[in-house]
Amino acid sequence: MTRKSTMTDLGTDEHIKKTAALYVVATPIGNLDDITERARSILQQVAVIAAEDTRHSGKLLDHYGIRNRLVSLHDHNENSRAEQLLGLLREGRSVALVSDAGTPLISDPGYHLVHTVRAAGYPVVPVPGACALVAALSVAGLPTDRFYFAGFLPAKSTARNKVLDELVQQQGTLVFYESPHRLLDSLRAMVSVLGGQRPACLAREITKHFETFLSGTLDELLQQVTADTNQQKGEFVLLVEGFQGQAQDSAWTDACRWLLELKDEMPPSKACSVVARMTGVKKKALYQWMLDEGLDSKA
Ligand code: SAM
Repeated sequence: MTRKSTMTDLGTDEHIKKTAALYVVATPIGNLDDITERARSILQQVAVIAAEDTRHSGKLLDHYGIRNRLVSLHDHNENSRAEQLLGLLREGRSVALVSDAGTPLISDPGYHLVHTVRAAGYPVVPVPGACALVAALSVAGLPTDRFYFAGFLPAKSTARNKVLDELVQQQGTLVFYESPHRLLDSLRAMVSVLGGQRPACLAREITKHFETFLSGTLDELLQQVTADTNQQKGEFVLLVEGFQGQAQDSAWTDACRWLLELKDEMPPSKACSVVARMTGVKKKALYQWMLDEGLDSKA
């Protein structure tokens, strides 16, 4: 493919135009002006565009006046499609990957294709642009030095609580994608597992007409969203401040739990030896903990 070079190009596409490449192209998450010139140029020039939903992406391309061949790539055909697209790269033809909105592979298909193409030694080139999690994080007013993207929480409550349990001591800002029909359940689960006092932000319909950012504690957000059904409509990114307390070493926590289980079954010294072997925590430290907690009654 050929492409006009610009002063700000830094030459990245110069070498690639001689080699076939897979371009991973971000598209808007709402406002159609949020597409880069480079994305439009690449979508126009590649041999084929692999899209999550060809009808949806077809309309988007029409909007930009781009005419090009679209093929579907979704969770159910990604393996076979990856082989076909690799075939095009072998013929020296470039391919673009888009999803319905935002950056492909971010809670969207494409991982297998990217993995396959890289493993085969062809360049995989990012064409960055909109991404809901980054857009939300950039305005939420929560710490951004560290964040943990948890994607969509599971639909079933047991699995959802298990994921949240694992995140309780995560120190970076927690970022979740949410759908309207699960928003309230997820907020309730977060209040119960993470605690209602954590600062949070609900980013809704980013870059669209009803764009709203609600800030407050999880308790407050749950109240506001319950009271105003309009706040339950649309697409959401939910951000929650990370754990601010002293993190506990998980081996130590496990060891204490085991000691509490075993303390009535065997003498403390024996319990400490067993738990030290199981967890790798030093026996002496465990014995001291039992003494400090007054759990050495069988000693
Ligand atoms: N690949 C996309 C990205 O880069 O953000 C995400 C795709 S994922 C299937 C769709 C989810 O992203 C939505 O359910 C919502 O949680 C979030 N999302 C996408 N667009 C959004 C928007 N305009 N406002 C708020 N959240 C959005």
